[in-house]
Amino acid sequence: MSLAISISQYIQKLRDGTLSSEEFVAKTLERINKVEKNIHAFISINENAIEQAKQIDKKIKAKEKVGSCFGMPISVKDNICTKGMKTTCASKMLEDFIAPYDATVVSKLKSEDAIIIGKANLDEFAMGSTTEYSCFGPSRNPWNTDYVPGGSSGGSGVSVSALECIASLGSDTGGSVRSPASFCSVVGLKPTYGLISRFGLVSFANSIEQIGPLARTVEDVAFILNIIAGRDSHDNTTIENGTPDYTKDIDIGVSGKKIGIISEMVGEGVDKDVQSATKHAISTFEKLGAQCIPISLDSAQHSVAAYYTLASAEASSNLARFDNIRYGFDFSVEGYEYNSYISKVRSNFGPEVTRRMLLGTFVLSAGYYGKYYQKAQKVRSLIKSQLTESFKKVDLLLAPTMPILPFKIGEKIDDPLKIYLLDINTIIANLSGIPAISVPFAIANGLPIGIQLFANSLQERQLLQSAHALQKTTNLPEVPI
Ligand code: GLN
Repeated sequence: MSLAISISQYIQKLRDGTLSSEEFVAKTLERINKVEKNIHAFISINENAIEQAKQIDKKIKAKEKVGSCFGMPISVKDNICTKGMKTTCASKMLEDFIAPYDATVVSKLKSEDAIIIGKANLDEFAMGSTTEYSCFGPSRNPWNTDYVPGGSSGGSGVSVSALECIASLGSDTGGSVRSPASFCSVVGLKPTYGLISRFGLVSFANSIEQIGPLARTVEDVAFILNIIAGRDSHDNTTIENGTPDYTKDIDIGVSGKKIGIISEMVGEGVDKDVQSATKHAISTFEKLGAQCIPISLDSAQHSVAAYYTLASAEASSNLARFDNIRYGFDFSVEGYEYNSYISKVRSNFGPEVTRRMLLGTFVLSAGYYGKYYQKAQKVRSLIKSQLTESFKKVDLLLAPTMPILPFKIGEKIDDPLKIYLLDINTIIANLSGIPAISVPFAIANGLPIGIQLFANSLQERQLLQSAHALQKTTNLPEVPI
């Protein structure tokens, strides 16, 4: 039995009785045992997974009503709360934190009989693009374990790619679902702002982030989206959008579609192999009957600066709560006065989170607010309005997900700016709220390249249909690990 099966194949096997959830989960745990030491996708593993699988098999045998996931193993980024399991955010600050409740996305998956197989590694509090900033050590790219898997949802990308689960949930504030999807050769979706509840997601930058699914195929991503999307009374930023079936007509193709190629994201600064994969993706779409035209989005050149200003400002405010009083670790106050106590406990953050809080506090400080925060908001509005204009001319936009190939662990860690610049092609979706997806499209020097598509707000169906059409043309090798 292969672990590399699609969700529909899995469900079929469970339905016709040729596979049980227990068998599949046991095989998955075996796989995890075998490969984890080389790739470190997980922070914790669900000790009750086999027991939960047995319960679901029992229901199937007794012909009771079973949820649409039929006991399939799904990993969840460790900044999404899971009742009874640790939610650490890969931070010393929350090393032993066990959430008293499930995030809405988690309870939705559980109510469809998914098994949360483990909590996936990430950059501390989801700040980073390589997963090297996890306080538990980096995750490694299953395509070459000397290389970074992308981030911040690196553990999610790695676990899906390395067949340690069927799908995963990540969070995407500036590209954190799409970056690991691209670097690990899996599909990753950042949905429209408000489509998926964030109740139970540990906040980093609320005005820009979303939870998003990762899986090996676009169809599988659509399946998970069907379960987790929708208005939630616990999250007032969620929107009412009916309940479209994202898997419906996914095969419809791209004939007659207009695709804009974002000029600023395909030229200078983009790796040669990434450029040629992008050209190939464009010609593939043309062969499939789409029309591709260049679109300029000059405001995008300011997106990184605007994003790091806004995201850091929100982070500095959100992370103020980690003071070891409301949340934290056991730390005796004995012998400390207030200031030294606070500075002692607050020094438990890692270097990147500390940098963001300092930067965020600075850009919000009196006298600088207009110079930085307000200016960044103006850039954000400009990006939004240029995108709105673009979608009057085209149905979709295309760019490589990442400008370069995965690189060696440690290679850029001393230069945060270089890491920030990796997000240059992903951030526009977060600042504007539109959906975007990364599709695995090519392998160069043994390393994956993802192609990114953007659609207008709430156009997920169109986005998934086009991504599916592109993925169907590919025939990529199996993960080498
Ligand atoms: N790399 C970006 C950052 O560090 C994005 C992170 C994310 O999407 N969570 O902020």
